Amino acid sequence: MRSYIALAVFGFVVMTSGLSAQQGALQTAADKLGVAKVKTLQVTGSGANFSVGQNYTSTDPWPRVEVKNFTASINYDTGSMRLELLRTMGAVMPKGGGAPFYGEQRQVQFVSGNFAWNQAAPPPNAAAGAAPMAAPAPDAAPERMLALWATPIGFVKGAMANKATTKANGGKTDVSFTVGGKYKMEGTINAQGQVEKVRTWFDQSIVGDMLVETTYSGYKDFSGLQLPSHMVQTQDGYPAYDLTISAVTVNPAVDIEVPQNVRNFQPAAVRIESQKLADGVYYLTGGTHHSLAIEMADHIVVVDTPNNEARASAVLAKAKELIPNKPIRFVVTSHHHWDHLGGIRTAMDEGATIVTHQSNKAFLERVAKTPHTIAPDRLASSKKAVKIQTVGDDGRLTDGKRVIELHRLQGYDHTGDMMVVYLPAEKILGEPDAFTPPGQAGAPLIPPAVPSAKALNDNIKRLKLNVETIAPFHGNRTTTVAELEKAAASPATN
Ligand SMILES: [Zn+2]
Repeated sequence: MRSYIALAVFGFVVMTSGLSAQQGALQTAADKLGVAKVKTLQVTGSGANFSVGQNYTSTDPWPRVEVKNFTASINYDTGSMRLELLRTMGAVMPKGGGAPFYGEQRQVQFVSGNFAWNQAAPPPNAAAGAAPMAAPAPDAAPERMLALWATPIGFVKGAMANKATTKANGGKTDVSFTVGGKYKMEGTINAQGQVEKVRTWFDQSIVGDMLVETTYSGYKDFSGLQLPSHMVQTQDGYPAYDLTISAVTVNPAVDIEVPQNVRNFQPAAVRIESQKLADGVYYLTGGTHHSLAIEMADHIVVVDTPNNEARASAVLAKAKELIPNKPIRFVVTSHHHWDHLGGIRTAMDEGATIVTHQSNKAFLERVAKTPHTIAPDRLASSKKAVKIQTVGDDGRLTDGKRVIELHRLQGYDHTGDMMVVYLPAEKILGEPDAFTPPGQAGAPLIPPAVPSAKALNDNIKRLKLNVETIAPFHGNRTTTVAELEKAAASPATN
């Protein structure tokens, strides 16, 4: 009897001490971070953010953009955050893509629960001092919401509120829980009670359940709390943020109200407009990114399925409506940048052979089989076998009659794999990103856009292409080599 009690007590001690060591690590972290008393936090600093999905080739890191100053204002009680970034860009963009801008650019981003929005510039006719407009950004909500819960204080608060499980990992403690019943969060707390690393995943239409990993270092005293002075966040393996924190304010007023227009926002239905450029050649517009649908003897060739599955599905449907009773046999991807590649898995599910520059083969093979459990797409359900056809620097698709030439732009710093599409008989050139004619004909380009226009113009000359119509994959109109030549030669002088 006596030994039985002793054993039972021993077992109990082992069990609770095992639990308490790891729950204890969470409590130590909570104490050092001041989790119980911190309701709101303002963090300021500087560093860089990076244009995710816009690398020069599919194996390069994301292009770096200087962040002169950032301020994050967080309210943990309401699950809301305001992030202001002051970004700067010189006359030359870093190698790779990203929306061109020049000089200083202020971005103000908000999240509150499931709502996300950006502060937009007031319209040109707004009265002086008019309140800034809120531009709904629903697609950004998961990323921003998870960024809030991935901060060290957010992570520990989240762990305590969501019944986290803890596990010893050498001298460290691994903590995991789920946010919103959907998003898995994992973190590591070291022996000093510092949150070292937080891992989470959100849906990305191309790479699927995308790993976002934030590493915190340089812990020091900020207003009596032990907080990191440096954070690096990677997305899909490459840095997306690299920020050094210079100051922290504890419990400032952070009142973030969801604007009415954000709360009531209904995304517009995907709209595809078509313009016949030649017999059997259609320019598909109506959104931010355009495509081409080209009729061949017994099939259809589509160039670019951009943005996401909704747009890609609509583009493919429009192609079949304009060119009835023929299957879409080939989908050409102009280049690997995520905005233009967003619907590539939809094209794969369609059964089309994906035509791409040879440098993208390994990346697209990964894309074809990457898990999409957070937001399953068409390919995740159909699990279709994927066909990829690579081309070198010059390629050709033909049915014996119509010829579609593919040419890789050389000396083009926006991306190393840009295939422009040239129809020699129709004298049509399809090109994304290199030259987007300004809304007003003859208006000069901003300086960072000029080298791209010049590269396109140089390549047209190098290849001796006889282009009558340029169909850009952005903007609101087709253009000509004459306009391109002029834009390539004359940067804005400001
Ligand atoms: Zn691009």
